Amino acid sequence: MPHDRYDPYDFANRRHIGPTTQEIDAMLGVVGAESLHALMDETLPADIRQEERLDFGVAMTERRVIEHMRGIADKNRLLVSLIGQGYHGTTMPPVIQRNIFENPAWYTAYSPYQPEISQGRLEALLNFQTLVCDLTGLDIANASLLDEATAAAEAMGMAQRIGANGKTAFFVDAECLPQTIAVLRTRAAPLGWTIVVGDPATDLDPAQVFGAIFQYPGVCGGIRDLTGAIADLHAAGAVAVVAADPLALTLLTSPGEMGADIAIGSMQRYGVPMGYGGPHAAYMATRDAHKRTLPGRLVGVSVDARGNRAYRLALQTREQHIRREKATSNICTAQVLLAVIAGMYAVFHGPRGLKAIAARVHRDAVRLAGGLEALGFTVEPEHFFDTITVRVGAFQGLILGQAVANGVNLRKVGADRIGITVDERTRPDILQAVWRAFGSTDPVYDEAWPESRLPQALMRTSPYLTHPIFHMNRAESEMTRYMRRLADRDLALDRAMIPLGSCTMKLNATAEMLPVSWPEFAEIHPFVPADQALGYRALIDDLSEKLCAITGYDAISMQPNSGAQGEYAGLLAIRAYHLSRGDAHRTVCLIPSSAHGTNPASAQMCGMSVVVVGADAQGNVDLDDFRKKAELHSGKLAACMITYPSTHGVFEVQVRAICDIVHGHGGQVYLDGANLNALVGLARPGDIGADVSHLNLHKTFCIPHGGGGPGMGPIGVKAHLIPFLPSDPRTGEEGAVSAAPYGSASILPISWSYCLLMGGRGLTQATRIAILNANYIAARLKGAYPVLYSGAQGRVAHECIIDVRPFQKSAGVSVDDIAKRLIDCGFHPPTMSWPVAGTLMIEPTESETKGEIDRFCDAMLAIREEIRAIEDGRMDRANNPLKHAPHTVRDLVGTWERPYSREAACFPSGSLGMDKYWPPINRVDNAYGDRNLVCACPPVDAYSEAAE
Ligand SMILES: *Cc1c(COP(=O)(O)O)cnc(C)c1O
Repeated sequence: MPHDRYDPYDFANRRHIGPTTQEIDAMLGVVGAESLHALMDETLPADIRQEERLDFGVAMTERRVIEHMRGIADKNRLLVSLIGQGYHGTTMPPVIQRNIFENPAWYTAYSPYQPEISQGRLEALLNFQTLVCDLTGLDIANASLLDEATAAAEAMGMAQRIGANGKTAFFVDAECLPQTIAVLRTRAAPLGWTIVVGDPATDLDPAQVFGAIFQYPGVCGGIRDLTGAIADLHAAGAVAVVAADPLALTLLTSPGEMGADIAIGSMQRYGVPMGYGGPHAAYMATRDAHKRTLPGRLVGVSVDARGNRAYRLALQTREQHIRREKATSNICTAQVLLAVIAGMYAVFHGPRGLKAIAARVHRDAVRLAGGLEALGFTVEPEHFFDTITVRVGAFQGLILGQAVANGVNLRKVGADRIGITVDERTRPDILQAVWRAFGSTDPVYDEAWPESRLPQALMRTSPYLTHPIFHMNRAESEMTRYMRRLADRDLALDRAMIPLGSCTMKLNATAEMLPVSWPEFAEIHPFVPADQALGYRALIDDLSEKLCAITGYDAISMQPNSGAQGEYAGLLAIRAYHLSRGDAHRTVCLIPSSAHGTNPASAQMCGMSVVVVGADAQGNVDLDDFRKKAELHSGKLAACMITYPSTHGVFEVQVRAICDIVHGHGGQVYLDGANLNALVGLARPGDIGADVSHLNLHKTFCIPHGGGGPGMGPIGVKAHLIPFLPSDPRTGEEGAVSAAPYGSASILPISWSYCLLMGGRGLTQATRIAILNANYIAARLKGAYPVLYSGAQGRVAHECIIDVRPFQKSAGVSVDDIAKRLIDCGFHPPTMSWPVAGTLMIEPTESETKGEIDRFCDAMLAIREEIRAIEDGRMDRANNPLKHAPHTVRDLVGTWERPYSREAACFPSGSLGMDKYWPPINRVDNAYGDRNLVCACPPVDAYSEAAE
């Protein structure tokens, strides 16, 4: 029988768990633990261990999970959605689908903080930024935000920072997307700002607001010239934001030309499927003068040590990891993979292709309108791009129902109108189905080009996408090679371990990824009637149930699109809870000095004041200081934010005491769940005493990092916070944090498949092995590098911090030098200088095999010997392989006058001989790039200069 049922993939540990049984035994020997269970007992405090085993029934085989997924997908009913409202049908070109979207070289990459191993995705992001600048007519664009609604909220925050008139109200065009209005209301409330929604023509008083946002074209299709309104705002010292459709911008005058200060929007229709709400990339662009207040990541151009062009993240000092509660926003994970796809879609189509698509979409909208007018309906507005609104009186329900019966979803507008938005995928039979729903018996699609109904005064005359990258020869062989070339420049999980502390770069199993491409998940509009998304309903319910069982919480909200957005949603829930009890004065948030930068940044966005708590010599929260500050602020205490296990990689024994102190003073406990990979199956935040946590599904639950997004940051809460979870964004009311009810729903199948593949036992075993792997690294390295912190019994959690600060003095070697030298060895560097400056934080995860971990440890030990050679005077302090790392193929040719060999330079321990990873550039000069800020594709002449 067992023989019959043998399935080579049936064992969770042959996919997600790296070490074999024999390797586990060997590693336990090195660590000095009796058994895996003994190691857990020595690592986790006894009083936090969960009593019941995690049980989801038997783990499923890979094939069964895929079949099961198929069944769930089939419960979603895939209709054509002409709902619009910020989401559009689009076609991802197959060459992009296979070579980027489904290619682990792209989707398993980490955020490009280490530029030398990230040149491919940095170039792709620079294309995206150039695309956005050109379309919007503005100077500088960031590398993506989470979605259009949050981009609008970020723009409002930015307008408040750059606006000079001291007002506290923000005007919102009633033609903005309802979900945008909802998220703006949510963002404004805790900051004490007022949202005024109305018609800009009649309700906007520029003297009363610090800024205003307009939708272009509006949600009902209208296209207005905003030049006058923007000039009036400027005259009053207020800031103008335009939310613009990037496809419409290929035909219409850009926001920049109308005078806008900031443009935002969604790049979804640039080849990224709707995915029941996401993920896709939002964009934000602004004028050069405001570049330092721009939120999110920004890719810039610099040079490397040889003076060759090199890309890297620019102006990082704006970001939350440096500025904390004073940061420009809490954005950390954004939407890199989707921005890359959108940028590549523009490379694929070029400006003429994009314009042709837009023109075809418009022609279909005109045909649609003409057909409806011929049937006797009144179509609004007079001028439109892709969206029309039809007056239908009492027939609204009937027509919407007939449309669904014909396979098409339309948008209900008020009580007596219907909105229709056509897109790149609209075909004659779809328009005929719509006409039939409106009562036509024999609708005819006329191929002839109808007359344009765009506003002639707003036709775009300015050029865009003039850069050669958007004019390359697009033969598929060239496209494929371009994407391949960029991918080859980068080091992602498909090449080597990425030992990043706090970011849990674990396996993203192929079987988990497959369903994301299926149309039944990918092509569902987020606002379809509930009965068309029963598969999603089942998936979200079951995944929520599993996450509750894992965390000990009572409910989950899937709305937040990143960990930081989860923090924000969780703190808002705490805020609303206090308000409901008449405790509006509870606004103080205690945050340990070691916290992730997003924690204080999120607290600030919720109108809380951050009080920092110190750490003791062991790296634990200083309990005395914590108690003192909690007492000092007792009456005003809203919350504390702690991370568990701590950002120092340790299970603090006093975590329950911390929770008790906060509760004793009437506060709530926010437990940052980014380190859940060390807890699943062994301990539950909800049992430890926390009230709310976010989970990073893109860390613990296998959603790939995508080079810096997508992510999902659902929050779990205890029962008393359930009423304060994010609300439905479609209502337009305060309470939503994202544009879509379930955030980036289309990547949830990944996390769900992971749970099914592993079962409760497999998930628990993964946690144990994650802890074993980290302790193994600590044990192997501790003779060479001090391990900074450990728990009461000398054990680290799922990651460890090694101290390299002493080498600065002994050998002039910095943490950067070691990190860059690891690139020569074929590794992505660990997390640098966080949470402790001058240290490296290493997290192997359960996915890495003993072989790969040994390769890493050997490389680290070899680097230690290089440092020793400098310490002993055998190697020069300034001219050595660490200082010159990383080395490239260019170091193999030409003169060589260094006191170490080329072989030592390029083939250190771990570098894998013929499979060596070659970084495409030498070390990047960051300061140069910030001094000479260039954030769009460099001009053509610069290209030829770099090519020689
Ligand atoms: C990653 C991380 C976050 C932020 O998560 P994002 O998804 O990047 O927004 C917050 N806290 C900790 C400890 C983290 O490691």
